[in-house]
Amino acid sequence: MTEFQRIILVHYHEIGLKGHNRASFEMRLLKNLEALLADFPVVTIHRISGRICVFLREGTSWDTAVEASDIVSKVPGVARVSSGFKCERDLDEMAEAAVVALAEAGDFATFKVAARRNHTDFATNSMEMNQIIGGALCEACPDKQVKMKNPDVTVGVEVVQNAAYVYARSVPGVGGLPVGSSGKVVCLLSSGIDSPVATWKLARRGAVCIGVHFSGRPQTSDASEYLVDDIARVLERTGCIGRVYTVPFGDYQREIALTVPPELRVIMYRRLMFKVAEELARREGAGALVTGESLGQVASQTLDNIRCTDEAVKLPVFRPLIGTDKLEIIAEAERLGTFEISSQDAPDCCTLFMPRAPETHGKVSVVLEAESALPIETWVAEIADAAEPRDYACPSYKPRKRRENAQG
Ligand code: ATP
Ligand code: MG
Repeated sequence: MTEFQRIILVHYHEIGLKGHNRASFEMRLLKNLEALLADFPVVTIHRISGRICVFLREGTSWDTAVEASDIVSKVPGVARVSSGFKCERDLDEMAEAAVVALAEAGDFATFKVAARRNHTDFATNSMEMNQIIGGALCEACPDKQVKMKNPDVTVGVEVVQNAAYVYARSVPGVGGLPVGSSGKVVCLLSSGIDSPVATWKLARRGAVCIGVHFSGRPQTSDASEYLVDDIARVLERTGCIGRVYTVPFGDYQREIALTVPPELRVIMYRRLMFKVAEELARREGAGALVTGESLGQVASQTLDNIRCTDEAVKLPVFRPLIGTDKLEIIAEAERLGTFEISSQDAPDCCTLFMPRAPETHGKVSVVLEAESALPIETWVAEIADAAEPRDYACPSYKPRKRRENAQG
């Protein structure tokens, strides 16, 4: 029996992708996939007529191919991933490859064939291919039924210029745009449930994410920092996070707590967090801040308080979860794989020096008045200088050199 080369066929949505836009989208996705599959036996990755095809080395096992396609399915920009074989543009070969692919597809009772050709230079049209290959499959698996509507397995056959691709395993991808195609953002990343999901939302739309975590250190332990590192490692698998800055913030909170009226503390902490994040964004060349806030979820997330914190910075602040319920956020965190990590309890700066009754309707003028007693500008530079960077594998992130930082 012929041994066919294993391939992974990456499908993406072509809507809205035209001209230069499309070429750079495909190149970005290809580069991201290349980096994320570095540990797999990949021969090469090519663009072929509206798809990206990953060619696997001879002898690659089914399990390895499945593992690789599961990684691919979580990469932003990927709409669907199919794993199967490359073969000649020959109906007998295509039928033989289809039999092998279907045999690997696991338990199923019903199937159909969905064939397509990209050029009419292949004489057999898609209907005829469906019949011929479907016939061969019926012969090979007499106990299985052909079903046109909602079959358990659809065997895909795609004939392109020099080859044909045949697959039976096909899973949906996460969609979105390739990371690196929409600029860079700085994400305020706590070890809670919401902010990793918010980060992921921007990543899925193609933004390179840089995290900033405010630790209560030295006033609290560094436990939250380990959780944030675990979260970053989950995000790293999708190639979306380049770096996380950890900021020891406890001493500054203490100063704030000693200086401003208790009810304003939370707003003050958050304004300072935003200003530091904005300074790090400036140094990184990032264009926006991202938080996991959801309207009304806690005291700091009222409209009035959001306005007070937004006033602290000039950069746009994105809150992709502003209209999302907690239960929906939890479901997304579970899908992303961060929920369990975020469910662990760790003190961070949020639990430190909290007032008994925080202001829920902050007034900008009152806040500015109280803040004028603090050396904010000096602090922001000092805190940003002391921020501890940790880098993660991200194909579309290049750390800026120190000198560039200094020049801004
Ligand atoms: P999360 O589950 O993301 O911690 P939350 O529901 O606990 O959110 P808050 O504590 O009010 O809500 O925080 C709102 C947002 O502020 C967070 O989603 C995050 O973006 C940011 N934030 C809060 N605490 C920190 C922190 N220690 N470091 C960095 N960002 C933080
Ligand atoms: Mg929190």
